[in-house]
Amino acid sequence: MQALEEAVDALAVREGFSGVVRVDRGEGDGFARAYGLADRAHGIANTTDTMFALASGSKGLTALAVVRLIEEPILQPIYDLESPRMAFGRIAVVGDAAFVARPHVAAGVSKAADDAAALTEALQNEPDVETALKRFEAARLAQNYRIIERARHLGAYLQASRTQEEQARAGRHSTDAAVIAETAVLDFLYA
Ligand SMILES: Cc1cc2nc3c(=O)[nH]c(=O)nc-3n(C[C@H](O)[C@H](O)[C@H](O)COP(=O)(O)OP(=O)(O)OC[C@H]3O[C@@H](n4cnc5c(N)ncnc54)[C@H](O)[C@@H]3O)c2cc1C
Repeated sequence: MQALEEAVDALAVREGFSGVVRVDRGEGDGFARAYGLADRAHGIANTTDTMFALASGSKGLTALAVVRLIEEPILQPIYDLESPRMAFGRIAVVGDAAFVARPHVAAGVSKAADDAAALTEALQNEPDVETALKRFEAARLAQNYRIIERARHLGAYLQASRTQEEQARAGRHSTDAAVIAETAVLDFLYA
């Protein structure tokens, strides 16, 4: 365990790793070490109690661990879903029924909530349902397209086959620094 701890220390320093490593083996045998900064602006170091916003960030690692444990893995393809419209007369589609983005943006819940909020706002402020649903669609359609497009950029590096443009996206968004800075971050919507 001592050798492993030293190896992890060396690796963390070499790679400039920021986060927490914990290894458990049996009762009381193991270690937990924190590296790097939790808040770069204020120079606050990570501790073993630091809470991290993982969102969908652990999915890749979990998938890798699961796939390694089974002899014949079943692969589940991921599709982008993009509805050309969200309002159809007196019917509206919201959340995942209208748009499903790749997990990298981790926007599924906030997207559904924003749709619901926009729908409520529109219904409260228009005299009839059809006009309200048009207002709702105008508020949400472009925003949802942006989320899907962003997810395509971030997820390009996991695609099996890629166009030249997707290869360029893959190069841009697959570095460790880019993945840490961009996964599950919605700042692009408000930039
Ligand atoms: C493994 C996993 C991890 C995820 N991680 C994240 C994450 O970290 N961050 C994030 O933002 N998003 C994440 N998502 C995506 C997020 O869960 C969805 O985008 C979000 O739940 C969509 O909300 P929704 O209300 O549109 O649909 P849903 O949450 O799917 O709700 C639809 C509801 O309708 C019900 N329903 C379906 N058919 C009928 C019917 N005929 N009659 C009545 N009810 C019906 C369903 O049972 C369900 O309860 C994850 C998704 C998965 C699968």
